[in-house]
Amino acid sequence: MHTLDTLSFDNSYTQLPEHFFQRVKPTPLTDPYLISLNTEVAQWLDLDPCALKPDRLAEIFSGQASLPGADPIAMKYTGHQFGVYNPDLGDGRGVLLGEVINEAGERLDLHLKGAGKTPFSRFGDGRAVLRSSIREYLVSEAMHGLGIPTTRALCLVGSKQLAMRDGGMEPCATVLRVTPCHVRFGHFEYFYYSRRHDDLKILADYCLERYFSDCLEQDNPYLAMLQVIIRRTAKLVAQWQAYGFVHAVLNTDNMSLIGETFDYGPFSFMDTYKPDTISNQNDHKGRYAFSQQPAVVHWNLACLAQTLLTLVDKDALVKALDGYPALYEVAFLEQMRGRLGLAQAEEQDTQLVDDLLQLFTEQAVDMNRFFRRLAEFDGSEASLTKLMELLRNPAAINDWLLRYEHRLQREDQPAAQRAEQMNKINPEFVLRNYMAQEAIRTATDGDFTLVNDLLALLRKPMQPNKQFAYYAESPPDWAGAICLTCSS
Ligand code: AMP
Ligand code: MG
Repeated sequence: MHTLDTLSFDNSYTQLPEHFFQRVKPTPLTDPYLISLNTEVAQWLDLDPCALKPDRLAEIFSGQASLPGADPIAMKYTGHQFGVYNPDLGDGRGVLLGEVINEAGERLDLHLKGAGKTPFSRFGDGRAVLRSSIREYLVSEAMHGLGIPTTRALCLVGSKQLAMRDGGMEPCATVLRVTPCHVRFGHFEYFYYSRRHDDLKILADYCLERYFSDCLEQDNPYLAMLQVIIRRTAKLVAQWQAYGFVHAVLNTDNMSLIGETFDYGPFSFMDTYKPDTISNQNDHKGRYAFSQQPAVVHWNLACLAQTLLTLVDKDALVKALDGYPALYEVAFLEQMRGRLGLAQAEEQDTQLVDDLLQLFTEQAVDMNRFFRRLAEFDGSEASLTKLMELLRNPAAINDWLLRYEHRLQREDQPAAQRAEQMNKINPEFVLRNYMAQEAIRTATDGDFTLVNDLLALLRKPMQPNKQFAYYAESPPDWAGAICLTCSS
């Protein structure tokens, strides 16, 4: 076990050529205080949570003190934002403090988000506000609990310092993000569009070595790497679609090379299933609407593939990209079969799933509540009523349910076992916008209880919890009026 002073840093990204990044120290925030420590992430880093002092965490992760062994940098990357290439991006408010190797041999990046200005800040103040920091902190743990690949966070630090945002002055905060990978699609785009093909090869070799070492044995490791990225990313999007998650800002600089959900902004879990849900008020054309996610991620993968043109034959790149829709479809069907408790695969399952999604759409169903109740459905009147309560027109479920019951008859798995399996993957709790909103409101008033309670609750989202049972119910009316924007 380590303390913050003895973490074993081994910073490999700073060994890359100097123009891959800029060395920059965090700018201290005033009057910092610890809001929350994620003890599981602490243990992942081999930190003994009991030995971590709140004041020391606040001091270090507000930038007031430096972390021994860290070598902070702002990474350079570019990317396509809403379909338009922006050459001026890079870590504008986050710094990569360094890389820690844990006892399991994993190399983990520590990235301090909200650390102050960097050479890539452009017009920004380098800060992250408490509101968006709480959202990222909680949702990353919620996604992890759901089994959806994601970055995580060690801690959340608040401050009395204020920053100007759309709605006025807001308190600043930092999140210490932990993940093996901060390389984005946009890192590759930077070198491709600035025609630095030698550097692009250096970056690709670095990523192969660090993240895709299995590919090194392949005929063309770069192509093999792209194929793995496409497969992982297709599965990731399938999980988003299966759980009703809207990322909302799928710019290529928000796409992780290892297929994790990355850079949380105005995301949502849909309270009711609406394919055209746009979770970001600034996304006027709905480029990143829920239903668009699989296609727009395909487009993002094409941006990445294009950067490999000097390393991989064009036809091979195109072929790899052409494989994405089928990979996505297979992954999505697998997710939905799991949610429906189907252990065997049948060809007609696609239709069963499509019709269910149609029903969700027409009846404005809360999909996450639905699957939980479906597990309890045993043909009894009471269990049927529970399901019907989730529809505008209760009778609309009859046809589909009949087909589902017939389908279940062809399963070998006993009903009790099926229900148990379903409840292992269908959450009782997801981070609904209104829950995040309540945590933000109470934390802004200086009470961090709810942030910490939600962290614990969402870490085990399948586990019923009497104390917080109301979060498994339908959201309050005011939830519908919550308005999310890019402002963070
Ligand atoms: P995001 O919308 O958070 O994915 O950020 C897009 C780009 O803008 C990234 O390069 C960020 O580093 C940068 N950025 C976002 N907010 C700020 C800020 N407050 N100050 C400086 N740069 C920022
Ligand atoms: Mg971003």
